[in-house]
Amino acid sequence: MTAPRLHPIYADMPVTIFEEMSGLARQTGAINLGQGFPDGPPPPALLEALARASAEQSHQYPPMAGLPELRRAVAAFYARTQGLDLPPESVIVTSGATEAVASAILAVVQPGDEVLLFSPAYDAYAPLVRRAGGVPVFIALQPPAWRYDRAAIEAAITPRTRALVLNDPLNPTGTAASPSDLAMLAELCVSHDLFAICDEVWENVRFDGQRHDSLLAQPGMERRALKIGSAGKIFGATGWKVGWIVAAPDIAAVVGRAHQFLTFTTPPMLQWAVAEGLDRPDIARSCTARWAETRAALIEALTREGFATLPNAATWFSCIDLPASGITLDDRTFALRAVHQAGVASIPLSALWEGAGAPTNIVRLCHCKPETMLMDAVERLARWRDGLGAS
Ligand code: GLN
Repeated sequence: MTAPRLHPIYADMPVTIFEEMSGLARQTGAINLGQGFPDGPPPPALLEALARASAEQSHQYPPMAGLPELRRAVAAFYARTQGLDLPPESVIVTSGATEAVASAILAVVQPGDEVLLFSPAYDAYAPLVRRAGGVPVFIALQPPAWRYDRAAIEAAITPRTRALVLNDPLNPTGTAASPSDLAMLAELCVSHDLFAICDEVWENVRFDGQRHDSLLAQPGMERRALKIGSAGKIFGATGWKVGWIVAAPDIAAVVGRAHQFLTFTTPPMLQWAVAEGLDRPDIARSCTARWAETRAALIEALTREGFATLPNAATWFSCIDLPASGITLDDRTFALRAVHQAGVASIPLSALWEGAGAPTNIVRLCHCKPETMLMDAVERLARWRDGLGAS
């Protein structure tokens, strides 16, 4: 008797690098600068809004596309922060941004379609494209600036190319596309008739006074861009899993059809709290300001201890260059040994790279933690590195 076979995409797949490293951190008691999440709770005003909503509002299914109040608040947030003019009908609320990515890919990709992904790429994209019957086509970004190379993109486009996935700002590098990158990507989408699935979950975690501009706002993109956002990233509440997708209303409606058979709805009390949070600009601003401080603290401590950091401008992450920091291990060996021997978890960049040319000299560290924890982690890493040469 043969046993039924599970889908090889999943059957042959390990758990994500985030799950692996957080699991090792739990097991060993290491400081977890791997998976990205803040250590503390979300802002008190958000917790109060959640408690109020939980006491006063319905706990039953909200509308599939999201509470009208949250759809309106998301549209208003984008009008205020990015100058986008979107009706509430352009917003579909999802259970986290990964569900939004899945819904977008399911709504866009048909069997045989090619989808352009930029390496390093968030780990969910390629498996979702493959499960939708599509073919991921990887285009490598070049460190340290991780720029988008027009010639490389044009060379990758074929008559079967249906879409590109742009993660901007980019996880794991913490860099952001330049205005000319965005203009060039929009031009290519228009001239090759492509959709752009824009994972912009880090849009509000930008530093040095930089404002976020969406690919959706570029000429010709209103009917091509599907823009994804995340309350977890805006407010530092990663376990809430409240995200959304924004597109022209008729496109959003179709994405909603894919979403309705994934999670259908998102807990209403969380939606109420996020709506209230988005309506109070000071809350999101203070989160970003706090993370600007933790980013500076981590980079300062790393630099002081002789670690070479790569330039970044956004996200909860800073990357270090291992050889330039006096470490000859490759990134995965570093991450596995550091969690056990130094007591610090990190993310090796090559885990988020498919296709040729993966750099193996870069690891990602998460900074949205108390400064004392960051100092402790850097000191542990420095002491351990200094002992590496001797052993
Ligand atoms: N976005 C988180 C990170 O980059 C990981 C989320 C997850 O664990 N799937 O660290």
